Amino acid sequence: MVANKNFHLTVKSPGRINLIGEHIDYNGGHVLPAAIDLNITIRFKKREGRVCHVSSKAKDDFKFNIYEPLKPKPNNHWANYVLGVINGILKLRPQQLSAFDCEIESDLPMGSGISSSAALECGITFGLNSLFNLNLSKLEQIKIAQKAENDFVGTKCGIMDQFAVIMGEEKKVILLNCETLKYELLDANIDPYKIVLLNTNVEHKLASSEYNNRRKVCEIAMEMIKSKYPHYHQLAQVPLKVIETLENELQESVLRRATFVAEEEKRTIDASIVLQNGDITKFGELMYASHEGLSNKYDVSCPELDFLVDYSKKHNSVVGSRMMGGGFGGCTINLIHKDYIQYYIELITKAYEDQFDLELSCIETEISKGVSIVR
Ligand code: ADP
Ligand code: MG
Repeated sequence: MVANKNFHLTVKSPGRINLIGEHIDYNGGHVLPAAIDLNITIRFKKREGRVCHVSSKAKDDFKFNIYEPLKPKPNNHWANYVLGVINGILKLRPQQLSAFDCEIESDLPMGSGISSSAALECGITFGLNSLFNLNLSKLEQIKIAQKAENDFVGTKCGIMDQFAVIMGEEKKVILLNCETLKYELLDANIDPYKIVLLNTNVEHKLASSEYNNRRKVCEIAMEMIKSKYPHYHQLAQVPLKVIETLENELQESVLRRATFVAEEEKRTIDASIVLQNGDITKFGELMYASHEGLSNKYDVSCPELDFLVDYSKKHNSVVGSRMMGGGFGGCTINLIHKDYIQYYIELITKAYEDQFDLELSCIETEISKGVSIVR
């Protein structure tokens, strides 16, 4: 690493949690995410010439010419997150970037559902916006980051992750309507419980297949619904009782996916209400119900995630638990009584290792602010 003083700008870009509302953003419903106190740190400096040099402690370096058209690299190269946002910035602000270097360090695990990908995209976008005085609005930055992941990486992600990384605030969860992008910042009233992420260390393969498959299935369900009920535009807006009328029209698996979406949307609205009322027990029940739906109706869980959630049900110190993120691995999010966190972590780590012969990583985390410049 080159010494800090040689760099012109340092940005911290957080990961995010989502308390409830999973696989809902791309269905135009409500989600309840927040930025956390784990970050990707990116140091930028301008340089002479045309070639930019990007390095990450976790990966191989790469270089590119800032004045030549950018194209995605093959084999899911991590450069695509960076090149994708630069491509997006240049579309909105042509000829306003010149050569720069950047160095990346991170304490966010990759591929664990804490959205290291959005932290990376948003950190680069936010940093370049500041380094080159581009005057991009927060919403423009969010959309550049999302589009980079959609078009350059090939993951058809919704907008939640990027929104939370850019808009997050200390001690607040974001109730976001993913269709209108209207949002409310709600107090994260979870005391005496704290947020603990349990990482299965089974890496999800979001970009590869199942995530995009679920999106496709939701589009199929929506087309059928629109042919009968043309006033609906987003799957998450269709109430359960309407979906139930389509029992004979929709294929069984499509019906199950659509049912999950309707139920999860309702759970998220209910959860935002009980959170404001301070009813953490009810909030936890909704988290458990969310996991149940993700596992049995949306089919995006895996044995490791199910084990962690089932185990927590036997312990009163855990008020709620569910898988978080795309699924097929990654983390569970747990609300654990602050006096019992160490005790519980010891128990579950041993039980998990006995069951799967895999290490469990435990991360106690706080809700924190969104992407920012380090002064
Ligand atoms: P998640 O967003 O849940 O962590 P993704 O599969 O969406 O999982 O994104 C992980 C990918 O993001 C990594 O495989 C890598 O390409 C990129 N990435 C994340 N953090 C870094 C980092 N510190 N350095 C380089 N690439 C990173
Ligand atoms: Mg991601």
